[in-house]
Amino acid sequence: MFLTIDETAYDDAHQRDCARVAALLSGPGPHSRASVADQLKMTSTATSHVVSYLTERGLVVERLGTRIGRGRPPFEIALNFQRLGVSVIHISSRTLIGFLLDLGGTVLEHKAVEISADSDNAGMAEAMCQLVQWLIDKCPVGMIHMGTSVAVPGVVDVKARTWLITSRWPKVRNLDIGSALASVTPVATVCRHLDAELDARTTLEADYRSGNMLLLHWGWGIGLSYSIAGQPLLQNGGPFGEIGHWRFNALNDRGCDCGNHGCLETGAALWALLPLLRTYWTDLSDEEEQLAEQLASLPLLDIPEVTEAIKLMARSLANVCRLLFPSRVIVTGPFVANADLWESFTNAFKTEGLIGSLELPALIADKFSQDYVIHGACLPLLNAGLETFIRQNKRAA
Ligand SMILES: [Zn+2]
Repeated sequence: MFLTIDETAYDDAHQRDCARVAALLSGPGPHSRASVADQLKMTSTATSHVVSYLTERGLVVERLGTRIGRGRPPFEIALNFQRLGVSVIHISSRTLIGFLLDLGGTVLEHKAVEISADSDNAGMAEAMCQLVQWLIDKCPVGMIHMGTSVAVPGVVDVKARTWLITSRWPKVRNLDIGSALASVTPVATVCRHLDAELDARTTLEADYRSGNMLLLHWGWGIGLSYSIAGQPLLQNGGPFGEIGHWRFNALNDRGCDCGNHGCLETGAALWALLPLLRTYWTDLSDEEEQLAEQLASLPLLDIPEVTEAIKLMARSLANVCRLLFPSRVIVTGPFVANADLWESFTNAFKTEGLIGSLELPALIADKFSQDYVIHGACLPLLNAGLETFIRQNKRAA
């Protein structure tokens, strides 16, 4: 099952059955009326009623399947994934990348728009609106666009749908993304980049749902996300996990984009270290994925500021572990792509220890993946879109 439903959200049993059938059909097939009735423990009459109802509304299609042996091939039923669509905006370096996805989570269209570093709230809002409108215009005939999810880095108030601080665009402050997109999309949600990524990782990896997972990103900025048995720690939104703005005496004269001094980011984030690294290697990219490849083979441990950053990061992570006690920690970002740096970091972390004889969590270095963010950002919107569609009871045109 790809889509998940909240059975309590519907007005009556028929709507609930429609949602259950649609969710089942979103998973691996083939499906038939008989297999659906069997798996959902529904009568064949009720199943036929629901399938006919959803077919009339364009959400389900019925077609001849593959013939097995002699005789007539069976009828298969499937979701018409292109009936509903959503858009996602993902932010990579200084580029907005918009995606149009269908109900199965398949990307149908995408477009990248670069936003200059001196852009302000109005410029960013206008660029987002234009991008969403472009994606909506690309919806195939018959598709209803259900909403937009914007996954942002930096400090975010998810509930207020407000992007508070982003170090890539210093003039973008307290941007109310929900209001900015209200005129172009029926629903606008905002999520933290890291939360979307961790949601997708825990959805896709069964192992990650068994314990408490911490995802730490050590890149342009520094932040973390946390889940307990596959569920996000914070269910109601709000800012979270901004350890990049923890303050250290050792860094206290350095100014940070947040307006404070001595934040962890001023000594360990890419935005702070990249100018120094470029005095050694001039062609280093400020795009994290490309930089990860460049840093992988460089002698980073020869640079005192880097070894200092490793110590600060190891201490910060150990402190986080004494608060949240994760069973696993995934660390992503360009620095951990360097094997020597990773070894030094894990050793410093072990030296920190936890408390007494309590065991430290397993550390896993991994690549950041845009696919995780898109998956994690679109799934809640697709689930909500399905619910809205069923509740609105729209017939196909
Ligand atoms: Zn700060």
